[in-house]
Amino acid sequence: MAEQIQAENPLRGWQAAAAEIQIDGRAFIDGARVDALSGETRATSNPANGDEIAQVAYCNADDADRAVKIARSTFESGVWSSMVPNDRKMVLVRWAELIDSHSDEIALLETLDVGKPIADTLGIDVGAAIRTIRWSGEAIDKVYDEITPTPSDCLALVTRLPLGVVAAIVPWNFPLSTTAWKLAPSLATGNSVILKPASNTPLSALRIADLATEAGLPAGALQVLPGSGSSLGQHLALHMDIDGLTFTGSTPVGKQLMEYSGQSNLKRTFLELGGKGPNIVFADGNLEKAAASAALAVFYNGGQTCTAGTRLIVEESIMEDFLAMVIEHSKAWIPGDPLDPATVMGPLIDSSQCQTVCDYVTIGVEEGAELVFGGNTVYGQSGGFYHEPTIFAGVNNQMRIAQEEIFGPVLSVIPFRGADQAVEIANDSIYGLAGAVWSRDINTAHKVAAAVRVGTMGINNYFGGDITVPFGGFKQSGNGRDKSMHAFADYTELKTTWIEFE
Ligand code: NAP
Ligand code: MG
Repeated sequence: MAEQIQAENPLRGWQAAAAEIQIDGRAFIDGARVDALSGETRATSNPANGDEIAQVAYCNADDADRAVKIARSTFESGVWSSMVPNDRKMVLVRWAELIDSHSDEIALLETLDVGKPIADTLGIDVGAAIRTIRWSGEAIDKVYDEITPTPSDCLALVTRLPLGVVAAIVPWNFPLSTTAWKLAPSLATGNSVILKPASNTPLSALRIADLATEAGLPAGALQVLPGSGSSLGQHLALHMDIDGLTFTGSTPVGKQLMEYSGQSNLKRTFLELGGKGPNIVFADGNLEKAAASAALAVFYNGGQTCTAGTRLIVEESIMEDFLAMVIEHSKAWIPGDPLDPATVMGPLIDSSQCQTVCDYVTIGVEEGAELVFGGNTVYGQSGGFYHEPTIFAGVNNQMRIAQEEIFGPVLSVIPFRGADQAVEIANDSIYGLAGAVWSRDINTAHKVAAAVRVGTMGINNYFGGDITVPFGGFKQSGNGRDKSMHAFADYTELKTTWIEFE
């Protein structure tokens, strides 16, 4: 594949590779690829042209029950959960290396399935998965448990034990990276895991599962079950023999999952949900950098990003000039063929997402916001779901386009006067996932960053961060934390052992 891609015309190289790629759409259970018990399949398609890419196993409750039994007996056997930490580490490190050596193939699968530009899948998504798995693996034999300060005739141990069987349910906007964020720490801590990818993007997770077996992950420690959220996903969330549920997706589904947990066995349920990121720009910020970053913050991945900076909150005194700069930078975000390495923004995931974006553009206009850039779908003849980058100015934070997660390339620009008002607007949201503040005044930057109620805040950057820092939301953006050592807490129980000497 590498030779084709490095050919003179990289677009044609990727197209040729796409035409030849072999795709196995079967589920992954007990270390092997298998059909759904019912034999049913569903197509997954390419958002760039609407074409079917592959038929994929359509797993239901029977497959889930089978997977849970296998995961449970694997967990109890100790083959993974009690493996010497150094050995478990080496499996994950080898897995990361195998993903690395299959980067082109996995990036291509992700681009075909999600419509993400190949430059992004290759340069960002695959790399993030590799780093996440390697980092979590390398951490395994560096985590110590605790001995507490007790009287001298006692010894108290505080140890972390795996939950047991964990289900992970992930969305379609970052299938590979969210899968890695869930699998790396849950497997590192010794759990057996069942992953349900999003219905429209199952391919990269299935492929990396093959590589996990090749890396030495024991059969039964990981299963990947493609299937519908409302049936298979619900069945997993209500299952009495699943101990933990980790989820990335929308806030309404997250709320349902908490209910399912309460209705079943109180499985530990950790949620990474939606956002409406406030990106606050003060007049004394680096405006050139802030304008370029404001466009990136909302148009990267077509705005289908939970952390997207969808509310640009701008000091009134610079509004006119700064808006013009943002519009200038937005012109670079032309949608294009995801297989073209020069493309920066691909299509939206499907027709319904595209319709949602169109509906919000209409709502914005009806609410009285000023449509100053974009606003239309494009390339209808391609069969893909392309939408222009779109900017509304004169937005009031009470408008629906400022309050609701659109999940498309739509920016709402809101004016403010003074730091207090900027913070008030930023916090007037049900969400609290990510945001940023731009100011060269260290006092303003720190005070505002501290006061905005979000899980990740950038100062003079948007989207900053790496695997070393925790990621997650305040308020209705969720509860758990992905990434960093803090993620391990979502997949372990703390146990106290109190010993008295005779
Ligand atoms: P979604 O509709 O909530 O779906 C997410 C996953 O949940 C999919 O696998 C889906 O399966 C499954 N699901 C749906 N209904 C279910 C149910 N009743 N029980 C169990 N599982 C169910 O979200 P989405 O539209 O795919 O993804 C976009 C959302 O994810 C946005 O709100 C975005 O902000 C959020 N997100 C958050 C983060 C974060 O880390 N905070 C990161 C990325 C995305 P189907 O595919 O079969 O429907
Ligand atoms: Mg697809």
